[in-house]
Amino acid sequence: MHNKTIAELAAGLRDKEFSSRELTTHFLARIGQYNPALNCFITVTEELALQQAEAADARIAAGKAGPLTGVPIVQKDIFCTKGVRTSCGSKMLDNFIAPYDATVVERLGRAGTVMLGKANMDEFAMGSSNETSFYGIVRNPWDTNAVPGGSSGGSAAAIAARLTPGATGTDTGGSIRQPAAFCGITGLKPTYGLVSRYGMIAFASSLDQGGPMARSAEDCALLLQEMAGFDEKDSTSVKRTVPDYRAGLNERLAGLRIGLPEEFFDEALDSEIARTIEAAIAEYEKLGAEVKKISLANMRLSVPVYYVVAPAECSSNLARYDGVRFGYRCQNPKDVHDLFMRSRGEGFGAEVKRRILIGTYVLSAGYYDAYYLQAQKIRRLISEDFKQAFEQVDVILGPTAPSVAFGFGEKTSDPIAMYLSDIYTIGVNLAGLPAMSIPVGFSSNRPVGMQLIGNYFKEAQLLNIAHRYQQVTDWHRRVPANFM
Ligand code: GLN
Repeated sequence: MHNKTIAELAAGLRDKEFSSRELTTHFLARIGQYNPALNCFITVTEELALQQAEAADARIAAGKAGPLTGVPIVQKDIFCTKGVRTSCGSKMLDNFIAPYDATVVERLGRAGTVMLGKANMDEFAMGSSNETSFYGIVRNPWDTNAVPGGSSGGSAAAIAARLTPGATGTDTGGSIRQPAAFCGITGLKPTYGLVSRYGMIAFASSLDQGGPMARSAEDCALLLQEMAGFDEKDSTSVKRTVPDYRAGLNERLAGLRIGLPEEFFDEALDSEIARTIEAAIAEYEKLGAEVKKISLANMRLSVPVYYVVAPAECSSNLARYDGVRFGYRCQNPKDVHDLFMRSRGEGFGAEVKRRILIGTYVLSAGYYDAYYLQAQKIRRLISEDFKQAFEQVDVILGPTAPSVAFGFGEKTSDPIAMYLSDIYTIGVNLAGLPAMSIPVGFSSNRPVGMQLIGNYFKEAQLLNIAHRYQQVTDWHRRVPANFM
């Protein structure tokens, strides 16, 4: 049962091959068996899952089921879940029981999905390896000595190990795509504003975007269908009709113009990854696509720009954790100042503190013009590069990450090396564009991910391009040996 895709599971539920209760019990048993070795979950919501499964079965019996009714999923622990701990991977929120559901959680709940639990993640979504979580590292099912990527590493690892057929993730600089690449699964970061951020704990608000993670593009389409759409509770939510993502999956690719940015195939890229991507490009040519070289001249500035903009926004967003209203509070504070200082000092981990310090610095009176303002200007140039590129091509293709999953501790002592693992993903967030990562092969027995970047609100086209590739290849169906 656990090797079926969401689309297959949904069909099985409709045809009464199995009940949601049976399905849910099966995945909960797998979580019990395998999660101790991987640590994908911060919280397993067994009781709630069984209740939701029973409700789903009743709905199916009454003939009132939607396309996802009864399908188990996992929520990244950055999404608020009413009555369930929502920790964001931090000691700061270890005791936080959300009083309401995030819009994404509410919508997936309304669709009848069953929540198995809350996925582990880098603290406040800051990281590329899942090594900064207060709840410990997550291991990569393909090689338990390797990181699963981050920050949505718990979601990605759980899907790869068949502990859930799908999950939510969030992507501020690559956190859906990079872990999807490292774990050999499929992930989609939507256009900024397509998926509501209400109830999604804020890291860098102008970059944060929630999206689906699953094994196939078709499954991502099914999840996105429920997640996307205008929400009056999010002021940056975009009002426009959500297309039928599944309907467009089988469009032919003849004449599709694929752009290959020279900056994505530079010396930073591992040569075996380059070869794997080239093989995937050849598949697209067989499907009738035309390939064209393009340039995104300011791409190399995206990491430095991001590490001004994202920390600036995070220093402001994280000011709310003061030990007063909710979250961690230090023991026996001497006075109110001591309460703030020690609650934040003890509640946040090292990477979060580093970002708050950088952000406060670049926003301070003497440095705002030199750093923050400059970064905003370059951010515009990066968006302009993409705009020009989309005048020549329909989609941009490249690697998701410069390397495959690396080992634990390999990059923790050098933050810059860690930050560089997002060089191919971060520009997309700065421009607010949609992008996917799909599995295209292996290098040293670790999965390789390929990135597809689309123009604004072209999710349907991206899903179509990914789906056609997945119909002629089977990388997305490979199962890690120890999690069959
Ligand atoms: N790795 C990047 C960071 O640490 C991106 C994280 C994310 O997308 N949430 O900021």
